[in-house]
Amino acid sequence: MRTITFLFFISFLSFENLSANEISNSEKEGIILMREEEKLAHDVYRFLYEKWGLNIFSNISESETRHFNAMAYLIEDFNLADPALKEPGKFQNKELQFLYDSLTNRGSESVIAALQTGAFIEELDIQDLQQLMGETENATILSVFQNLLRASGNHLRAFTGQLASRDYEYSPSVLPASNYQSVIETPHQRGMGNGNCKNQNNCRNNRPDGKRYRGGRGNN
Ligand code: ZN
Ligand code: ZN
Repeated sequence: MRTITFLFFISFLSFENLSANEISNSEKEGIILMREEEKLAHDVYRFLYEKWGLNIFSNISESETRHFNAMAYLIEDFNLADPALKEPGKFQNKELQFLYDSLTNRGSESVIAALQTGAFIEELDIQDLQQLMGETENATILSVFQNLLRASGNHLRAFTGQLASRDYEYSPSVLPASNYQSVIETPHQRGMGNGNCKNQNNCRNNRPDGKRYRGGRGNN
């Protein structure tokens, strides 16, 4: 009896290890990158909200908190070490640290520059998500990335719309023109993190694998 239990325990352990190692290094790196990239969006928008008091920055930063949390669930699911630092504006990824520093600087120049900064971050998210989605077939990862991508399209349209209402036409600096144009022409899409969750429980429960989201907001 004891032997059987022991063997069962061993096979359970190795099964767990197998499932943890199921994803490739590039998938792991993608998750780690997006976890900090969502923090970048959140932290820059909070900074710009405090600087300019525009609601668009606080609304979208709440959506970024949900994305940041969604990435935490992937990190937990695949047993990865969480790269996210607690302190706002601090990043382990040197490129993201550089981006935070330069984008908060640039966004401090004017409201137009701040909105451009927002559009730039969303372009960057869309580019990285599209690239990472091309590198994985894992359904859980794809589903989370798809939600983030949908929301980034909404956010990009929100920032460029605010610029347009101030008579400023935004030109893309990350995405190829045709890709940018197709995002701009897509109608508003509902989904996790697009800022349309009226009920926090609904927002928490659209995990792709049917598990309940734990924690909810509050990682800012
Ligand atoms: Zn996001
Ligand atoms: Zn966004």
